[in-house]
Amino acid sequence: MNYYSLNREAPNTTFEKAVIKGLAPDRGLYFPEHITPLHPSFFETIGDKSNSDIAFEAIKQFVSPEIPEAVLKKIIEETLTFDFPIIPLNDNISTLELFHGPTMAFKDVGARFMARCLGYFNQNNTNEVTVLVATSGDTGGAVANGFLGVEGVNVVILYPSGKVSDIQEKQLTTLGQNITALEVDGVFDDCQDMVKKAFLDESITQKTQLTSANSINVARWLPQLFYFMFAYRELHKKHNNIVFSIPSGNFGNICAGMMAQKLGLPVNHFIASNNANNVVTNYLKTKNYSPRPSVPTISNAMDVGNPSNFIRIQEIYNNNFDQLKTNLSSFSYTDAQTKEALLEIYEQFNYVADPHGAVGYLGCKDYLKTDNSAHCVFLETAHPTKFLDVVEGVIKTQLKLPPQIKAVIDKDKVAIKISSYQDLKDFLQNR
Ligand SMILES: *Cc1c(COP(=O)(O)O)cnc(C)c1O
Repeated sequence: MNYYSLNREAPNTTFEKAVIKGLAPDRGLYFPEHITPLHPSFFETIGDKSNSDIAFEAIKQFVSPEIPEAVLKKIIEETLTFDFPIIPLNDNISTLELFHGPTMAFKDVGARFMARCLGYFNQNNTNEVTVLVATSGDTGGAVANGFLGVEGVNVVILYPSGKVSDIQEKQLTTLGQNITALEVDGVFDDCQDMVKKAFLDESITQKTQLTSANSINVARWLPQLFYFMFAYRELHKKHNNIVFSIPSGNFGNICAGMMAQKLGLPVNHFIASNNANNVVTNYLKTKNYSPRPSVPTISNAMDVGNPSNFIRIQEIYNNNFDQLKTNLSSFSYTDAQTKEALLEIYEQFNYVADPHGAVGYLGCKDYLKTDNSAHCVFLETAHPTKFLDVVEGVIKTQLKLPPQIKAVIDKDKVAIKISSYQDLKDFLQNR
């Protein structure tokens, strides 16, 4: 598959080049030249298909011929080694648990898939690739874990000091090997700005092949469309009006859901559930898209002031505001509302959500007020123990730590402190 740049000032390129470059030379995000819907029989028989079968059929067109089919099958087998259970809360609301991977956030799937694609492309390449990534919380751990030990790939993660949870920090600062963590004196947007600047800095890019493992990278972004198909497989026999509520930050996950819809997935509507960082909620209200600096919240992985993937969503809907508005609702919630929701979910359904999932749950509740025939699935994007202090503080109950969390909690953090772009540049040039 070839990809074009959404800035439309760079040549089209292959899947391989799009993965290795991350961003097009004109700084645009890559987008597939064609999206061919799957045959309707695919969805009619989806109940009989395994996760791997679904994933293979759904993503094949986007990665071939650069990734041969046999290699793709292997990459998918190695990526999807855990479950994606659906837990019904009541007749109208279910949650899709995306946190059963090694770092217990949904980003594991994209990170593992991308790491294996890059490993495959790099096997005959003598030049090292540096994956440079900014994280608001969960990307760092998922990318560190997914790329650990991948030959020819160095990973450099920038995270905002004091703005990620303790467990998130441990997950990205304790692995060693080819993974380096840079602790930035600033907020997530500062990290993201530094990364973007490095990509534009020829004194760095002439010597080092940089790529990104944020959801701007097509190999990180596209595999996320699997979740929506897995959920549909579980629910379509019982429910004929399925909608998804996606706790959104950079809007990669929700945009992948819309790609699943483009492939023919019979779902009716998407809900972008936001915390106080509500650029998109405001856009749908006012038609005015105005990014602004992010503010910190208890659902920190969504603290994004300028969501990178929104431009892909606009492309999917042909930049047609009205068409987008029919398909997408968006709501925004404060931390106080999020905490109330955590408690409500616990008391009413005996279910422990994390702060991001709780925002998704609130999105379902508001949406159902206008469409009470819907079955709304909110994505549980991270395990509640990743936000231990917040969740335990609200539900006043001690949570049991899963083995993935226990494994990092007592390890020693190793990070290099930086406070300016020059520090990053010095680091990259003097390794
Ligand atoms: C990254 C993340 C999000 C936001 O996902 P986007 O694809 O950036 O919109 C939501 N919840 C959790 C737990 C995350 O880690």
